[in-house]
Amino acid sequence: MQEIKIELTKNPKAKPQDESKLGFGQIFTDHMFLMNYDEGEGWHNPRIVPFGPIELSPAAMCLHYGQEVFEGMKAYRGANGKPLLFRPEKNMARLNLSNDRLCIPLIDEEFCVEAIKALVKVDEEWIPKSEGTSLYIRPFIFAVDPHVGVHPAHHLVFCVICSPVGAYYPEGLNPVKIYVEQKYVRAVRGGMGFTKTAGNYAASLKAQDEAQKQNYTQVLWLDGVERKYIEEVGTMNVFFVIGDEIVTPALQGSILGGITRLSTIELLRSWGYKVSERQLSIEEVSKAYDEGKLVESFGTGTAAVISPIGELKWGDKIMTINNGEIGEISQKLYDNLTGIQWGKIEDKFGWVVEVE
Ligand SMILES: *Cc1c(COP(=O)(O)O)cnc(C)c1O
Repeated sequence: MQEIKIELTKNPKAKPQDESKLGFGQIFTDHMFLMNYDEGEGWHNPRIVPFGPIELSPAAMCLHYGQEVFEGMKAYRGANGKPLLFRPEKNMARLNLSNDRLCIPLIDEEFCVEAIKALVKVDEEWIPKSEGTSLYIRPFIFAVDPHVGVHPAHHLVFCVICSPVGAYYPEGLNPVKIYVEQKYVRAVRGGMGFTKTAGNYAASLKAQDEAQKQNYTQVLWLDGVERKYIEEVGTMNVFFVIGDEIVTPALQGSILGGITRLSTIELLRSWGYKVSERQLSIEEVSKAYDEGKLVESFGTGTAAVISPIGELKWGDKIMTINNGEIGEISQKLYDNLTGIQWGKIEDKFGWVVEVE
């Protein structure tokens, strides 16, 4: 394994005093991880250096053609004080899925997990201590060839930055209001929807902006071809409890395969619930609602873990789910997933990795 050089900062920043005001992704730790790719040399020069600006040519390809991929994961302060990671190998495997789609040279997944552990270790003191807080970790790769010409890059940078983040729900799980997006689409099969890449987010901003202007938190995306089948909600995967079946859209290329989604499916099945990954149309959800069978709905993702949906608007129809309150299954999932992530309940699945 390559050696990671460590250059510690000479000017450590003051750590945030009031952990109730951390918010999300606004404060960054003292260090970052960097590694370069140059054709002929492969990925090389892994290093941890003081956090700071990166110099780029204005012609750097990532700025013009969006050849960029990223990941989102967290380090949690475990019950014994040690930092914990949640299924980090899944994040690195998904990064390589994204890399492959965007013609970015693959990374050594095991090495990158070690690099992230090393960075978390160096900035360990930055992991907040209050209930529900964590250290958000953002690995990303971008093309830096100074060429305004369209071709896969020969020179790239892998960077990891970390940000202490607050409890997503300081006042307890709060159901969100979502509307079904009928004008814009996020991704199509054959495109990049299954990858974590900047372009997917650029494509989603307009819809999100319009939703927020109408007092909705996020949009529910429909498939880009028939505008009929449910895909995701905002930046989360989505689940519907319909009668005694828990349904989430099958991964068919346009949907991001969330690690929280996977863990949710595995947990639910271990509890004996019937979980289906299949096509689910908005008509079916609406019909289930009319028949009183739509019991719960929730989004899943690293940032919020479980985000109950209290209201779903489809055209003129407003569906209030579980009286706009958090449902039993959502609460149970939230308690168990966060319990495992923070090392408070037994991790029967071997999901949690301690940073030594
Ligand atoms: C990251 C992401 C998710 C959630 O994935 P997790 O691994 O659970 O955090 C869902 N949808 C989109 C579009 C995403 O980018």
